[in-house]
Amino acid sequence: MLNRESINNYGMNVFDDLVMQSSLPKSTYRAYKECIEKGEPLTREVATAIANAMKIWALEKGATHFTHWFLPMTGLNAEKHDAFLELDGDNPVLEFSGKTLRKGESDASSFPSGGLRATFEARGYTSWDATSHAFVKNNSLYIPTVFCSYNGEALDMKTPLLKSMDVLSKAVARIAPYIGLEDVKGAKPYVGAEQEYFLVPDEYYQKRMDLKLCGRTLFGAKAPKGQEMDDHYFGSIKRRVQAFMEELDTELWKYAIPSKTKHNEAAPAQHEVACIFRNANITCDNNQLLMQLMQDIAKKHGLRCLLHEKPFAGVNGSGKHNNYSIITDTGLNLCKENFDEDGFLPFFATLACIVKGVDEFSDLLRVTCATAANDLRLGALEAPPAIISMYLGSKLNDKIDAIIEKKNIFSENSRERFNAGVAAVCDFTKDDNDRNRTSPMAFTGNKFEFRTLGSSQSIAALNTFLNTIIAYEMNNMCDMIEKGADILSVIRTFFEEHRRILFDGDGYSEEWIKEAERRGLPNRKNTVEALEHFLDDNNVNMLSGMGVYTLDELKSRKDILLENYAKTIHVEATTALRMAQSELYPACLRNLSENAASLFNLEKCGLDCIYLRNDVEDYNAHLQKANLIIKELEKALNEYNCIGSDNHKKARFAHDTLLENMNMLRIEIDYLEELTDNSKWPIPDYVDLMFGI
Ligand code: ADP
Ligand code: MG
Repeated sequence: MLNRESINNYGMNVFDDLVMQSSLPKSTYRAYKECIEKGEPLTREVATAIANAMKIWALEKGATHFTHWFLPMTGLNAEKHDAFLELDGDNPVLEFSGKTLRKGESDASSFPSGGLRATFEARGYTSWDATSHAFVKNNSLYIPTVFCSYNGEALDMKTPLLKSMDVLSKAVARIAPYIGLEDVKGAKPYVGAEQEYFLVPDEYYQKRMDLKLCGRTLFGAKAPKGQEMDDHYFGSIKRRVQAFMEELDTELWKYAIPSKTKHNEAAPAQHEVACIFRNANITCDNNQLLMQLMQDIAKKHGLRCLLHEKPFAGVNGSGKHNNYSIITDTGLNLCKENFDEDGFLPFFATLACIVKGVDEFSDLLRVTCATAANDLRLGALEAPPAIISMYLGSKLNDKIDAIIEKKNIFSENSRERFNAGVAAVCDFTKDDNDRNRTSPMAFTGNKFEFRTLGSSQSIAALNTFLNTIIAYEMNNMCDMIEKGADILSVIRTFFEEHRRILFDGDGYSEEWIKEAERRGLPNRKNTVEALEHFLDDNNVNMLSGMGVYTLDELKSRKDILLENYAKTIHVEATTALRMAQSELYPACLRNLSENAASLFNLEKCGLDCIYLRNDVEDYNAHLQKANLIIKELEKALNEYNCIGSDNHKKARFAHDTLLENMNMLRIEIDYLEELTDNSKWPIPDYVDLMFGI
């Protein structure tokens, strides 16, 4: 049960700073802190002392095993558990050395590497990310690690994220004196993630092959009621869901994952949990663990937690909003709007770098949210379009106009007051900007809310690119200033040349698609298109120039993403085919035979059954169409299997042919479902799934 005790238990499963402070010798703790602050690796002695303290603490918590916990390119965390057990002669002893903490060895050959190493060069190393705390879960000590190949190339998503954080910190330190922040020596990106998800009854989930294998429904006629009444959003939470949410909060807090907000979302059976923002790498780890815990806890409540971006057609899908800001080591939020004469430069210089970076590298940001699942959501009039743009709000746009037109930007900056017109309601200062839910990247006063990420995705790649892009533009700004340009004129140039990326209107509208085209903004409609531009020269030069990725790492990532895409669609197409052939088509045939028999009997009795004859003929025609598409899909799958190992070709074919056939098949089957005797439909329908709790 959720109560005060739950808050007292905050962090009880984590080997956090407080535990370290109390369990390590003072000098070791100081050395550890120094390494973290300076971004230096731990010495052997410090690692040994920490490993020992960690072992004692973990054993007290009931741990028997430890695992290096890492984030390979599958986007799903990997773990391999080793017991603390060693043998001293015949006697069992408990061992955990500094070396084991610092370095793990893992057979990397079964993780995607995109050609970075051949299967015979299987060695991969994991190493503790000392900025992220170890924790105990299910009798194992989890050590958050990075994962690299024998030759040092990153095989995971965490290594580039950490590199990009270093790069950003250095860029902020470099630009600091030019924007009046002499004391600043570095900065960190902070991220708060809002996680959307669906809950469905486990008993129905078990009967759906598509949910079990693909995480989404591949068939399903719309329920008579969807989200049109807007009655689910922020609605009162059902008991069973409430119980799930309570246990989730209780567990999250034990792992020091600061969940704060929970509510029902727009679609039936859809919900959200949001956590308080923390350093980007910590939020990355937290969010991965959160997704795992959500799925585990749901099962305990007889539910299934669907993290897929589009489990149901016809209602909203799920995203993960990534709220981002940069805070200096002196505590200044560079993304907090500031129109004061002395606070103006840090904010507007940062904003100018972000605007320029997002415009120049929009293709990279697009790639971070490009997956087969998220394709079903982006641009579907429920999520931002595939066109990357930024919303700043009218007040900020006016200031940018003033900067460009060299007008005074400090006039009229007093904020309006809000007054509800009711005596008992206090008035207060209004936010400077309204909300725009249709923008991919909306400024919300003290942070940027990136809204295109899919619900099941790791936040790592997006934040890696954001950090690197912003750092790159800050360096550009510094270069120009160091060559003699005046800071304000550089800010002006940045805004002038890149304001095309700013758009405050309705991102869901047809007009915006046309307007974006007129402005020359890319509209990469699907994952394959997005990935085709991933390695354009400007992207590669910037990312490798900043030292965050090597060219080989980038090539491998592109290949892995294409492979993931192709495999996802391939599994979906195979599942759709199996369901159609072995479950749905036979059910339709039974329904048709029964109706045809009725027709035959009724006509034999001399009754005029033209209505039934029409219905039977219509049903038959659609079933025939379904049958033809099933054959087409089968043929297409055979063709896919003959493509060989070219992942780009496979992904293209998956998009152009497999997906196309699946969509056509779905139209026919969904139509037939609506006309089929409910008791004959072999799988739970949308009403069961979305309204069954
Ligand atoms: P909104 O209502 O605009 O979505 P919230 O205050 O509910 O804003 O915050 C949404 C998410 O943004 C939460 O995860 C929150 O912790 C996070 N957040 C708030 N301030 C910042 C910030 N400065 N940097 C990064 N994330 C932030
Ligand atoms: Mg929000």
